[in-house]
Amino acid sequence: MKPLMIATANAHKVEEFCRMLEPLGYEVHSLLDCEQSFEIAETGTTFQENALIKARTVYEKLHIPVISDDSGLAVNAMNGGPGIYSARFMGYDSDYNVKNQAIIDAVAQGDDKGAQYVCAIAFVEENGQEHVFTGTVEGEISSEMIGTNGFGYDPIFYYPPYGTTLADVSEEQKNQVSHRYRALKQLIAYMEEISS
Ligand code: IMP
Repeated sequence: MKPLMIATANAHKVEEFCRMLEPLGYEVHSLLDCEQSFEIAETGTTFQENALIKARTVYEKLHIPVISDDSGLAVNAMNGGPGIYSARFMGYDSDYNVKNQAIIDAVAQGDDKGAQYVCAIAFVEENGQEHVFTGTVEGEISSEMIGTNGFGYDPIFYYPPYGTTLADVSEEQKNQVSHRYRALKQLIAYMEEISS
């Protein structure tokens, strides 16, 4: 088994990555089981840069393969915001009902309801080679919050092929089309290629 570090302390993400990577012969670790703490400043201006900054910082300390991701919601009427600030929008601790209502209000003033979820996954290989894979999903900002599944901005992310928001469908349905899954599929295809 080859060691691999997922540069996140988010248990849900760790579980998702483990499920896809363990069958490829990787022994998956995360910041959850790492004694060392990492000061990682997300100073990039894009999802891709931020994902790479996190992966590179951890790689430089451990020198084993590292994966990291960065994701968020980009709203056309907000010039791509909240974008890389999605988690921090209106303050880290503010309730998503408040964040979501602010976005509904911002979009209601214009004609363009378009929005995109973006996920960038960075992978630094054992030899230091860097890669970034990006997955997106196109949708619209709903005029009201709908559904109780998912998390974050899902209640306002209307996905036209489903005819409702991503908070109003099952977890499996969301995962089939999600930005994270799409980026992850590209990563897995690459990792299969290098491990064959
Ligand atoms: P991070 O990639 O963990 O930094 O997530 C950034 C933020 O983007 C999250 O805290 C959510 O606000 C938002 N976000 C990312 N992916 C999703 C999603 O699938 N549904 C809802 N919100 C998301």
